[in-house]
Amino acid sequence: MPQPTLHLKMNSLIVVLTSILYLMFLFGIAYWAEKRSEKGKSFTRNPYVYSLSLAIYCTAWTFYGSVGRAANHGIDFLIVYIGPTLIMPLWWLITRKIIRITKTHRITSIADFISARYGKNISLGVLVTLVCLVGTMPYISIQLKAISSSFFILTGSPHSDKLFLSDVTFYIAIGLGIFTIIFGTRKLDSLERHEGLVSAIAVESLIKIIAFSAIGIFITYYLFNGFEDIFSKAYAIPSLRAKFTIPETNGYATWFWYTLAATSALLFLPRQFQVSIVENIDENHLKKALWLFPLYLLIINIFVLPIAFGGNLLFPKGNVNPDNFVLAIPMYFNANTLALITYLGGFSAATSMIIVETIALSIMVSNSILIPLFLAYPKAMRSTSSTNLSTFVNRSRRVTIIILLLLAYVYARVVAEHFSLVTIGMISFSAVTQFTPAIIGGIYWREGTKQGALLGIIVGTIVWFYTLVFPLMVEAGLYSNSILQSGLGGITWLNPYQLFGLKGMDTVAHGIFWSLFFNTFCYLIGSALSKPSTIELNQAVLFVGVVKQDNFSESASIWRGTAYMKDIKVLLNNFFTEKRTNRVLMLFAQRHGINLNEHKADPRLVAYAEKVLAGIVGSASARIMISSISVEENLSMDEVLNILRTSQALVITNKELKTKSLELERATNELKNANEILQKADTLKDDFLSTVAHEIRTPLTSIRALSEIVHDNPSMDEEEREHFLGTVIKESDRLSRLINQVLDLEKYQSGKQPVSFTPIDIQDVIKDSIEAIFQQAKEKNILITFLPNRFTPKITGDYDKLIQVIVNLLSNAIKYCANDTGHIQISIHHDDDFVYTAVQDNGAGIDRAFQRLIFDKFYQAEDQTIKKPKGSGLGLAISKKIIELHQGNIWVDSEIGKGSTFTFKIPINTHVSSEDL
Ligand code: ADP
Repeated sequence: MPQPTLHLKMNSLIVVLTSILYLMFLFGIAYWAEKRSEKGKSFTRNPYVYSLSLAIYCTAWTFYGSVGRAANHGIDFLIVYIGPTLIMPLWWLITRKIIRITKTHRITSIADFISARYGKNISLGVLVTLVCLVGTMPYISIQLKAISSSFFILTGSPHSDKLFLSDVTFYIAIGLGIFTIIFGTRKLDSLERHEGLVSAIAVESLIKIIAFSAIGIFITYYLFNGFEDIFSKAYAIPSLRAKFTIPETNGYATWFWYTLAATSALLFLPRQFQVSIVENIDENHLKKALWLFPLYLLIINIFVLPIAFGGNLLFPKGNVNPDNFVLAIPMYFNANTLALITYLGGFSAATSMIIVETIALSIMVSNSILIPLFLAYPKAMRSTSSTNLSTFVNRSRRVTIIILLLLAYVYARVVAEHFSLVTIGMISFSAVTQFTPAIIGGIYWREGTKQGALLGIIVGTIVWFYTLVFPLMVEAGLYSNSILQSGLGGITWLNPYQLFGLKGMDTVAHGIFWSLFFNTFCYLIGSALSKPSTIELNQAVLFVGVVKQDNFSESASIWRGTAYMKDIKVLLNNFFTEKRTNRVLMLFAQRHGINLNEHKADPRLVAYAEKVLAGIVGSASARIMISSISVEENLSMDEVLNILRTSQALVITNKELKTKSLELERATNELKNANEILQKADTLKDDFLSTVAHEIRTPLTSIRALSEIVHDNPSMDEEEREHFLGTVIKESDRLSRLINQVLDLEKYQSGKQPVSFTPIDIQDVIKDSIEAIFQQAKEKNILITFLPNRFTPKITGDYDKLIQVIVNLLSNAIKYCANDTGHIQISIHHDDDFVYTAVQDNGAGIDRAFQRLIFDKFYQAEDQTIKKPKGSGLGLAISKKIIELHQGNIWVDSEIGKGSTFTFKIPINTHVSSEDL
């Protein structure tokens, strides 16, 4: 182990300069990404950037606080990371649904989300915004506090009491405010993403994980000899040994409630909602985040225990605050560059959280509180008469950002001094847990109502405050300490740490349990006892059914009333240029076949304008704006349900139409194919006819010529005449055979050939065929052999037609075998399904190229007339037809010079064969 040197200070100028340079670097990244996206090349349209931006979950709490917690309590720091990891599949399902809802309804924040679901209710928006403010403001301020204390550790300067202008933290808060205003309020519309901001956040996530791993590796592998070394050394010390296990008392219950709170935090903390939902570009990015984000958590947590134990081992006297181990250890060993890198990692973790959280909060404050106020009291809120809405939105967000940061700063310097990172973090987590019933109920349960949501959140928050925040105020000395012992006003069951006598739980788990219990209970009871208004019902249906409905929500407008085009345009012109307003309206009108020139606006267009506005000012404010320019009709519940049903039916009809048109297309294609086949058949028929004509002409010509000779030469001698007439007879025979075959084939083709199927033993057919052809073979002195097999099963067939096939095969074989040496062998065999008959000869053989073609009509006639004018070229074609009529198949194996084997197979007649065997 290297020897520690005296605790050195770092020049504060270096630290200040590094911080400033780092902030400039962030500006550069954000600026570069914005410029890129303007050119159409998005840096954030990427699942890795998306996953990294989710890692904003890891704040200074992770960076400094985890080590502190681990040093004091052992492995239970892991709770807040295990929860989100375990819950990832569920997170994916819920987030996907929330993203879809958010995109269809152009929702701008979590307050907007809850308010929109419950009838675009203003009170709910205000309530949620307030809870977020109260819950997360301290969280922002502890980030600032983390920045300043890390600064003090590095520079060795004592905590100064100076505030504002002589305090570094103040300038950092201002710098972050400027960054946030520049990159976070440029685009007002929720559909337009903050590319620069998200890119900077992603880069910060990368920096914090690299910095933390660097210090982890330094401690584990440089100061110690790896994990085992640290762990075994720590295990040897009794006070550290206990930290290797989960504390026995209530350990598991605590873990459960912490996990639940961490999961809600991952889903609903304003900054998480901002990056994972509002800034999400592509739903598919979730799939990568599903494993990348847990991987990030794993990597960043892997060195927490070694650093914590390492710190405990290095500073056994306990004179260094464990929250500061990551900085104090490298400083102690004079590794200043590493200390600076670590400082930057912590700086990244804190700044990214501060930036996104303030943006998310400023959007909420402006959309859910200030704009409704502006709309209600336009005169009071308007600073100059020329202020239009868009300027107001912009200004209100900027001012909110500055106020939030100043408040956070003051809070950090005045209040947060007294509490640890982890306590405040956990209180923040449990605050947003209060949204869980209203949101989860809101997206999966139609019956949830505004009253239920309001009641649940209010009661839950009160219990949260009483059990989690109030005790801290007591501990800080604001109230008598006796409350924590004997309860408020001496009533024991009102003890904030043991509400209703629930003892033995960790205080945070206790608070989460009771607040969530009352919250859920009130939400359910409130929903059950109240009736939703029409607009609530509409929103409930749209939110719960979003996954199934696709375009449903666009066609389902329950808006009824009168509004004028002119007014709608004026409203939109508040936020867009006139050209853009016209384009936005025109695109929608085109899609839905709406006439824009009419005086009165189409109801769908009014609903659409409201949605566009909602993307900028939030649903509740957009609602107020639209009602201010229109006369609205109150719809009865039945009417709303009817409209929803009709539009759902429309969607279904649309789908049906789509399937119908697909079917039609398929039918058309089939017709086209059939037509093509017909056309081909037609050409084939033409060819066939011309070939037949040609085939008939040849014998006819010779008959005619020979008859003429006989006719013109009466003096011809007897022998010669006889010879000529013999040829005439032979040619006539050939002619009639040919015509018969053509007719035959025609009948097979048209299916008109009469067949009579009976059970047949193919061997009888073979024997009869040999008999019929025997004379021919004998003339050429060709040997025919056949070995019967009495186990051959019967087939079903037409006896005469099968004779025709075998005779044809045999006569072909005879034709193509040489005189005297020719040998034809007939064999049969069978398997489970077929009887095979093979006719093998040792004749000329057939070229491989022709083997398939010879089963076509007139094949021989077309190709081999000159060489072997012995047949019609129809024999095999007819044979093939006959075999196919028997559900069989015929083929040839042959090689030039080595003879040919024609084989056909016919299915076994199962009924008959079994009896006959
Ligand atoms: P053909 O009446 O001309 O024999 P097929 O349809 O029966 O007409 O036969 C078509 C062609 O197949 C024949 O012209 C011949 O070229 C070839 N062929 C058929 N059987 C044999 C065989 N056993 N050996 C060689 N070639 C054969």
